[in-house]
Amino acid sequence: MPHYDYFVIGAGSGGVRSARIAASHGAKVGIAEKAPLGGTCVNLGCVPKKLMAYAADFHMSFEDAKGYGWDSTVPAFDWNTLIAHKDKEILRLNGAYENTLTNAGVEIIRGAARFLDAKTIDIEGQHVTADNILIAVGGTPHRLDIPGGEMMATSDEFFHWPKPPQKAVVVGGGYIAVELAHILHGLGVDVTLLYRGELFLRGFDSDLRTHLAQEMIKSGVNVVFNCNPTSVERAGDEFVISTDTGESFTCDLPLCCTGRVPNISSLGLDKAGIHLDAGGFIAVNEDKQTNIDHIYAVGDVTNFPALTPVAIADGHALADRLFNQQLDRRVSYNNIATVVFSQPPIGTIGLSEDDARAQGIEIKVYKSSFRPMKHTLANRDERTLMKLVVETQTDKVIGCHMIGLDAPEIMQGFAVAMNMGATKADFDRTMAIHPTSAEEFVTMR
Ligand code: FAD
Ligand code: NDP
Repeated sequence: MPHYDYFVIGAGSGGVRSARIAASHGAKVGIAEKAPLGGTCVNLGCVPKKLMAYAADFHMSFEDAKGYGWDSTVPAFDWNTLIAHKDKEILRLNGAYENTLTNAGVEIIRGAARFLDAKTIDIEGQHVTADNILIAVGGTPHRLDIPGGEMMATSDEFFHWPKPPQKAVVVGGGYIAVELAHILHGLGVDVTLLYRGELFLRGFDSDLRTHLAQEMIKSGVNVVFNCNPTSVERAGDEFVISTDTGESFTCDLPLCCTGRVPNISSLGLDKAGIHLDAGGFIAVNEDKQTNIDHIYAVGDVTNFPALTPVAIADGHALADRLFNQQLDRRVSYNNIATVVFSQPPIGTIGLSEDDARAQGIEIKVYKSSFRPMKHTLANRDERTLMKLVVETQTDKVIGCHMIGLDAPEIMQGFAVAMNMGATKADFDRTMAIHPTSAEEFVTMR
């Protein structure tokens, strides 16, 4: 039976990085993967989502070009071409991941892994043992437990939907719901978004949430709040979603985007004696160690921000701690910048105004709302909103938020500044880059 210094279950964002770094430190490393290499991000997450969002954005560009003198009409769009090109790019990335792992000396074992005991893993009949084991199996979409709920697609199916949707109902109000609603709307699909609460994107700054809802409604998305689906029924080629408000919605793409759950149902965690936390995630300490000393977990299977860079950073730091004697190597979760590829997109770092107030921090809030220059000649009625939350006592910027054109590309640098402890005075003495939207962050008074 092969024996490893380090065996990783799951070749996604966290697992691949951790395996590669451990091997580079000289460890004998194996990795098990039951699906194409690269995990959720590459195959069913960040990458296909972003490629399809680019496709959706062309719609706006074609429309806006007219105001700039281009004699443009919106050309025809072909769904199957987009899906095929996206799949080709993902296949290329799968190959790149394979090369990365094999070049680093990591042995790849294809198949679903499960624990036989705390040291032994079965991968579809092949048994291995290891001194250290990393669980990096990620998450899987949650499905609504309502009659007919199993007929709804999730993001997994969305990325391979066999024919161009005409009418979609997106249920949920998190990252995935608003991002997929944007893609569908941009590709010309009639979209309704149903969210159970007052306002979607819980946890984000309230001004951004309100602004996004207004912009989506203005652009023609049917946004319905305080509405819960109660059943899904088939009606010929279509689906009818009934709700607790009495209203029902017909569509050919019913899309369930109600969160994700850890991917642990067939992992045999009981055989290894691994404990879960109250939320059903694998419980880990600050060293990513489970209750079993030599078994670790990183990424979406643990209760940390479910973002690719977080899984990568934790997997990397763990390999450095275990195999390079960097015992105090830990990841900082301060000021994690995150973006939502909605339309318009959101970028956010640090505390929302509400969270800062709830924590009893005395703050000053600076806001700027404007129409980005690009939208002027295009005559596009879409505004950008920027906001800084500043701690009064220290003058430190503790929240930096933006919704509007280019937000995803603008925020990264501000995250660096905030991690260095930038104050509002630092922002103010920084020379603006003109004419940009980003300059508003250094000119707010
Ligand atoms: P994963 O990347 O999910 O990898 C886990 C791997 O383990 C998978 O390949 C799986 O097949 C494998 N596996 C599971 N069980 C077993 C088993 N028993 N045996 C063998 N292999 C197994 N994050 C961002 O930062 N930016 C984004 O824009 C973004 N967009 C997203 C869009 C969508 C639609 C989704 C769903 C997610 C998105 N995310 C985004 C989140 C990001 O994809 C995850 O946070 C990240 O992939 C988590 O990495 P991980 O290593 O924990 O798990
Ligand atoms: P989220 O946790 O972001 O959102 C889940 C949504 O579903 C919430 O609006 C929630 O409502 C709603 N919901 C949950 N349960 C039910 C239910 N039973 N009935 C009706 N609505 C329900 O999950 P996502 O799946 O959108 O995304 C998962 C994670 O993946 C994100 O949190 C993020 O970390 C990551 N991700 C990151 C992206 C990025 O970086 N751009 C893009 C996509 C995903 P409520 O708020 O009321 O609980």
